[in-house]
Amino acid sequence: MYQVTSLKAEEFISHEEIQETLAYADANKDNEALLDEILAKARLGKGLNHREASVLLACEIPEKVEELYQLAERIKKDYYGNRIVLFAPLYLSNYCVNGCVYCPYHLKNKHIARKKLTQEEIRKEVTALQDMGHKRLAIEAGEDPVNNPIEYILECIQTIYSIKHKNGSIRRVNVNIAATTVENYRKLKEAGIGTYILFQETYHKESYETLHPTGPKHDYAYHTEAMDRAMEGGIDDVGLGVLFGLDKYRYEFAGLLMHAEHLEAVHGVGPHTISVPRVKRADGIDPGAFDNSIDDETFAKICALIRVSVPYTGMIISTRESQEVREKVLPLGVSQISGASKTSVGGYADPEIKEEITSEQFDVSDQRTLDEVVNWLMKLGYIPSFCTACYREGRTGDRFMELCKNMQILNCCHPNALMTLKEYLEDYASDETREIGMALIDRELETIPNPKVKKKAYEYIHDIGEGKRDFRF
Ligand code: SF4
Ligand code: SF4
Repeated sequence: MYQVTSLKAEEFISHEEIQETLAYADANKDNEALLDEILAKARLGKGLNHREASVLLACEIPEKVEELYQLAERIKKDYYGNRIVLFAPLYLSNYCVNGCVYCPYHLKNKHIARKKLTQEEIRKEVTALQDMGHKRLAIEAGEDPVNNPIEYILECIQTIYSIKHKNGSIRRVNVNIAATTVENYRKLKEAGIGTYILFQETYHKESYETLHPTGPKHDYAYHTEAMDRAMEGGIDDVGLGVLFGLDKYRYEFAGLLMHAEHLEAVHGVGPHTISVPRVKRADGIDPGAFDNSIDDETFAKICALIRVSVPYTGMIISTRESQEVREKVLPLGVSQISGASKTSVGGYADPEIKEEITSEQFDVSDQRTLDEVVNWLMKLGYIPSFCTACYREGRTGDRFMELCKNMQILNCCHPNALMTLKEYLEDYASDETREIGMALIDRELETIPNPKVKKKAYEYIHDIGEGKRDFRF
């Protein structure tokens, strides 16, 4: 029985509701009157529910799909302007007791190098990341109560925040670790994390159980209900995601939106972010073995639909995707990307030589340096942002969502992007990137609508040039 406010996974992600939604979408995918009605609702910028969005996903009428893309671009501009926030993943440990068949870290993989960073190694990794210019990290670790207990994760977070190398600092640590208890979520909250991210992988229970044959992650309900426990533990910014390619994308998409609706209905706060990874090649993993993989066109349509369905939710795309794909989906609603990522444990301070036994989680398609990514974004007309202001100002959960929904957050995001970009240009950029960036900042400062904010932003940018750091609105 479908119940959006239920705390039981099988009720808020009801299989029957998804099946009915897909049947409804199939029956209406050519119903132009309904499609126009849904597009008109989407145009209001208040989002769509899973049924409405699923009809648009099923629709293949070129003009309607084109309308959807244009709308996604407009909503992206309205909510996020031309800013793209940058982050990097940091792999702490690839010890894992789970059996996820699509991930090389699964327990039975005996030929992958197993590594767990010591606090000293973390210092080296974080120093290397700071020297690139990163300010925002997403830490990743396999599930292993012996090797990676919560105490280890907490210690790592403390170490990361404590490192101040030259002008560098990591100002926001997002955490991507296995589903855990309310008590552990509370500890993570107290450690000052940003967003807690947990990918559902697939919302299809039967497939989920087959793809996760062993280990604690096998428990579909425990995994699916993790965000409710996280919120109970006080974490109010949570990040959802599915691994596209594991099951049928239309099923996953409906499930993803139902999950977002559930969080909003129960906790009054929807997901802070949604990630859109696709299955990738890795040690012993062939993406071709998953016959639900989606092509780039479908991927772009999903991104556009997430944008119009949950306008206030950030969308994240990683270096799993190539430069070409990233260019295609950036205007459709992506608000955060990773840059210069290493998906091996210890890969920043000590890059692995490809022929060696690897500890990588997946092949990185976009291999460019952070400077190249920043430069590329600016040439495409975006403002690369290293902003981490919100959670440091206590703008999280419903407070953040309120500001986001009535678009007041833009008064912060834009100048913060310019100030953090200025820091990057001063401390880390190549000559060419600096030149492009300084001109961009000059142009953008002029467009700040609020005179008080504009004046302050000018002052702060000037002070950054004089060596001061860490201003924020
Ligand atoms: S996906 Fe996560 S839980 Fe599964 S094997 Fe990989 S690291 Fe472990
Ligand atoms: S001001 Fe807040 S929402 Fe805007 S970019 Fe910074 S952290 Fe993100």
